[in-house]
Amino acid sequence: MFDSLTTRLGDVFDRLRKRGALSEADVTAALREVRVALLEADVALPVVKDFVNAVKDKAIGQDVVRSVSPGQMVIKIVHDHLVEVLGSDAVELSFASVPPVPVLMVGLQGSGKTTTSAKIALRLKNRDKKKVLLASLDVHRPAAQEQLAILGRQAGIDTLPIVAGEKPIAIAERAMKMGRLEGYDVVMLDTAGRLHIDEALMMEVAAVRDLVKPHETLLVADAMTGQDAVTVGKAFNERIGLTGIVLTRVDGDARGGAALSMRAVTGKPIKLLGMGEKLDALETFHPDRIAGRILG
Ligand code: GDP
Repeated sequence: MFDSLTTRLGDVFDRLRKRGALSEADVTAALREVRVALLEADVALPVVKDFVNAVKDKAIGQDVVRSVSPGQMVIKIVHDHLVEVLGSDAVELSFASVPPVPVLMVGLQGSGKTTTSAKIALRLKNRDKKKVLLASLDVHRPAAQEQLAILGRQAGIDTLPIVAGEKPIAIAERAMKMGRLEGYDVVMLDTAGRLHIDEALMMEVAAVRDLVKPHETLLVADAMTGQDAVTVGKAFNERIGLTGIVLTRVDGDARGGAALSMRAVTGKPIKLLGMGEKLDALETFHPDRIAGRILG
């Protein structure tokens, strides 16, 4: 298991006798441990560097309150900064638009897009009393459309009838039309993923975006995503334009560094967390919880 940051910083500061304001040397020593903790939590390297520099500027010269040790003081500064970066502006999904409100789900294959689409639809139905239509635009992966139909049946959510051989743009068009004609509040479009970012995928998703003008565009990303988080987050945000991120498999062992990486490179809020395979395993994002987990 990982050493917690508290233990590590305790060791650093045990070696330092003096109290008072945090000196540059104290802070530098402590931040070496913070850097290691962030890398172990799988935060991408460039993000770690920026984070550590920002914390350094904040910490140097701060008075250590009598009741806490210098180690605890640094942890508090690191923790507070992490919470701030992760989501002082965390907001849930927004549906303040003319119905049917289009929601575009994007991400790599296997990230949990289809499951998350069904989870969000179920949440909207149960909690917000919305009438939701789900449509799969994934014509590349065999049985992807059927998978969404099965999840829809499990959740009691309507799915767009499948038409064999139809292209993603035509499916999106048909979904929006059905949404309008049949009085749906929200139309969720589950796009195709690839194992890696590729140009064909981006062009396909961009064409759908231009057609439906989504109110929310959510990047679904696996919490296990490590150094790749920077590439994935950047590519989808630059090419498609995101409004938020959903991190999946937060129920697993991942320390959640991807949350910080994704947030830092896209500047977009993490809105929801996938906490399991079941359709009700979806939670609102709480920055303080993930911060605690990242720091160990
Ligand atoms: P897609 O290719 O992006 O559409 O991914 P899927 O929705 O098909 O999900 C791939 C696998 O991950 C499935 O077995 C899902 O049940 C599983 N999965 C999705 N979200 C979560 C999650 O939050 N936690 C766990 N443990 N498994 C998940």
